Amino acid sequence: MSKTIFEKNSPGRKGYTLPENDVDYKLNDCIPPKFQRNEIPRLPQVSELDVMRHFIELSHKNHFVEKGFYPLGSCTMKYNPKISDAMAGDIALRDIHPLQPENSVQGALQIQWELQRDLAEISGFASATLQPVAGAQGEFTGIKIIEAYHKAKGNNKKTIILPDSAHGTNPASAALCGYKIIEIASNDKGMVDLEALKEVVNEDTAGFMLTNPNTLGIFESQICQISEIIHAVDGLMYMDGANFNALMGLVKPGEMGFDVMHYNLHKSFSTPHGGGGPGSGAVGVRADLVKFLPYPMIAGNTDEGFFLDSSHKATSIGKVHSFYGNFMVNVRAWIYLKMLGNQGLKRVAENAVINANYLMRKLEKYYYVPYNESCMHEFVASGIWQKKENGVHTLDIAKRLLDKGYHAPTIYFPLIVPEAIMIEPTETESKETLDEFIQTMIDIAAEAKNNPQILHDAPLNTPIRRADDVRAVKQLNVKFDLCNMPLTCEE
Ligand SMILES: *Cc1c(COP(=O)(O)O)cnc(C)c1O
Repeated sequence: MSKTIFEKNSPGRKGYTLPENDVDYKLNDCIPPKFQRNEIPRLPQVSELDVMRHFIELSHKNHFVEKGFYPLGSCTMKYNPKISDAMAGDIALRDIHPLQPENSVQGALQIQWELQRDLAEISGFASATLQPVAGAQGEFTGIKIIEAYHKAKGNNKKTIILPDSAHGTNPASAALCGYKIIEIASNDKGMVDLEALKEVVNEDTAGFMLTNPNTLGIFESQICQISEIIHAVDGLMYMDGANFNALMGLVKPGEMGFDVMHYNLHKSFSTPHGGGGPGSGAVGVRADLVKFLPYPMIAGNTDEGFFLDSSHKATSIGKVHSFYGNFMVNVRAWIYLKMLGNQGLKRVAENAVINANYLMRKLEKYYYVPYNESCMHEFVASGIWQKKENGVHTLDIAKRLLDKGYHAPTIYFPLIVPEAIMIEPTETESKETLDEFIQTMIDIAAEAKNNPQILHDAPLNTPIRRADDVRAVKQLNVKFDLCNMPLTCEE
């Protein structure tokens, strides 16, 4: 283990040079005594180069997509073009304030107006809100809109139905809105079982939530039938469109029978994400639901320009975030859309799908793939062969991948596949990268046969070995104990 920054402390060493102060001032006039420090903070005394090395080294202990392949299923850890970051960092966007007069931020309003319009357009909806700041918050917003729709019609609805292949946030969001959740089993193809659906649909049904493609990476092919069944009882169809990178430019959910859908702009539309943020969970809706969208919306493109519109406040579900959501994530999404255009979006989806299918076909001889008809942007393999034949678990396989320089895939999810290994290559990886990963997975399958102990012991060459996950959660300790550090506090 290399030294911590505190251990590199050397009294008197510093990383700055300031000219001598020649201003005559009295400290007490500038800062009232009660706000002054009593003692010098115990910071390490190090050079600028020490600081640079410290942070560069820390950054490399983590995995990131610029360092290596990141096949984390359902997370879309793709490469996001740096031009979006560069443009979002422009002071004209970065340094504006949400309370500025509208006439001084016309460009920012235009960006959001166009993004609302373009998101709605590419998915077949009437309009979209940019306010929710995460996929899960988009779901919450969408279900609130469904609730408002039923309330306005005097419907007394109690339940939301979803399949067991739904993303975990779906039932959580519906429950948060007070609905009772009815989960139905998938059929042997990993899709919604229509007979099981018919059995539970009734007058209480407020809506149906479908993750599409579902968490098995499969496109639900019976959406028209499902939506007929749901609409027949005046239920609404919600699509979890977090993984729109498999569909964009190819299909419009609003034309397939969906009434409400959220996007994960941070996944599909180019914002580096992970570790909890930042995100944007924009929500698109059909025409008669627009009046329920959170306020304000961005309106305009008139002679008077663009403005914040709260004229639907009386019918709106209210605000779900301060101001207009995560503006910078929305800016990146707008740039991404402008750069790619319709044809580009279509190629994104085609590449996401072909990459996942290529991996699935190359690996299915070595790892069990339970639902192995063609997949969309991801597929779910299983470590069940390795477990039965070699006593190796999916966790061991994932840990061994760390040794080989990869981020581990999503494991043990979805719950309907035992020893699940959920792999999403994303559209930004080349065939060469995929081939290297395939070879690594094949090597690991061979190790499971010939040297299973190495998998039980993995990871062998990461900064820390196998962490005790349970202890890490129950006794989380992220504090470095300064007390034992030889930090002097001289000036
Ligand atoms: C990531 C994801 C979500 C949740 O999005 P967050 O931004 O993490 O809240 C919901 N559904 C699906 C299918 C996802 O992949």
